[in-house]
Amino acid sequence: MGHCAKFGAYTILCCTAIPSIIHFALVQRNQAGNSPAMEFMGFQLCMNFLAGCGIVITTFISDRHTQIAAYVKTVLKHITQYFDLWHLKKKIKKLISKLAKEKDNEQLKEWIKPCTNHLHWSATTTPSGNGKIIWAKFKSFLSHIVNKHSDLDDPLFNKCAHGEINDRTWLQTDDKAYERLCKVLTTNSLKKGIQQASPIDQTDCLEGFHSVLNQFAPKMIAYSYVGMLCR
Ligand SMILES: [Zn+2]
Repeated sequence: MGHCAKFGAYTILCCTAIPSIIHFALVQRNQAGNSPAMEFMGFQLCMNFLAGCGIVITTFISDRHTQIAAYVKTVLKHITQYFDLWHLKKKIKKLISKLAKEKDNEQLKEWIKPCTNHLHWSATTTPSGNGKIIWAKFKSFLSHIVNKHSDLDDPLFNKCAHGEINDRTWLQTDDKAYERLCKVLTTNSLKKGIQQASPIDQTDCLEGFHSVLNQFAPKMIAYSYVGMLCR
């Protein structure tokens, strides 16, 4: 988590039964080159170690690191990979906030929280992890905000799940702001990410662990490899 010039620590949290940190790898920058490469190397070291211990991994939840996702898809084919909701929600928040800062788009600001909540709901109410259904549910948000709650065009999810709701300031389909919002929320890359949104355990307790770790190894202090490993 965060940025450190010298080391990358990759941690594996097992979230079945009692949540436990089961392994971690510490990679030095000069072993890998850059920060994403350090992350990938840390991931590989951890997975190889766990496989060597005979631990069978069926599901892996992480952020959307491109190289790791490609590796799971091609090499670790037996593993289902999901993307952590916290990271996806952060991305969506960033996308809409940026739009809302533009002229005449201010009204989008109040839809940020409903949108991230809706993503959370879309994934966690789809225990099968079926990406097409998660996406259909998520997409209904774009109809919901223009006050259209039924007869949606995706047969996998064609009406909102909420009951009676209070009237609110809906967007209009011919609003420039609405058009822009639809565009940023339906890009191929975001769609792919949302289709793999994790319906199960999330990595937020791992983020918590990392912030504790930062207390013992603050990023502004340079440690030796062994010093860092001990900490
Ligand atoms: Zn609705």
